[in-house]
Amino acid sequence: MIEELRLAVRWGIGRQFLKTPGQWDCDYCSTKKTLKKDRNCDWDQPGECQKCGDVQFEDVYKDAGTSNFMCPICNHRVRFKGEFTLGKSYRTPGCPVSKLSQRAAFLLELVEWSDTTGKLPTASTLFEESLFFYEVRRFVTSERITAEQEMKPREKEQK
Ligand SMILES: [Zn+2]
Ligand SMILES: [Zn+2]
Repeated sequence: MIEELRLAVRWGIGRQFLKTPGQWDCDYCSTKKTLKKDRNCDWDQPGECQKCGDVQFEDVYKDAGTSNFMCPICNHRVRFKGEFTLGKSYRTPGCPVSKLSQRAAFLLELVEWSDTTGKLPTASTLFEESLFFYEVRRFVTSERITAEQEMKPREKEQK
């Protein structure tokens, strides 16, 4: 769930900074069959370790510092087709669009609505529901701040 939200938050922000956002709509991927494979839309293409060859996504682990995918056998970097970086601490093994979940998108909308109206989304006073929402909102808010810092294009540094 947290991973779903993280992807949704980062995709939302990252999209603003893409040069050609339209190219990363899911429709665009499905219009071209080869693109779907090249972009690894289903995240089902194996990654490649320079030493071990093909490695499945389920087996790799993430390097906490670089967020690179690492080989479980020899600890070298594994590269995936269509690897997509959304800020320096988030990397997906393929096209992020296809993995955006309805659930996460819905929760993000709720958070936004609640932020603008200052209301809670639940009509009921169920304690657990409110608690869940607070958790979600706290996570979304902090992830947004981190992601924005990581993804905002920097002013060109002078050389
Ligand atoms: Zn795609
Ligand atoms: Zn390896």
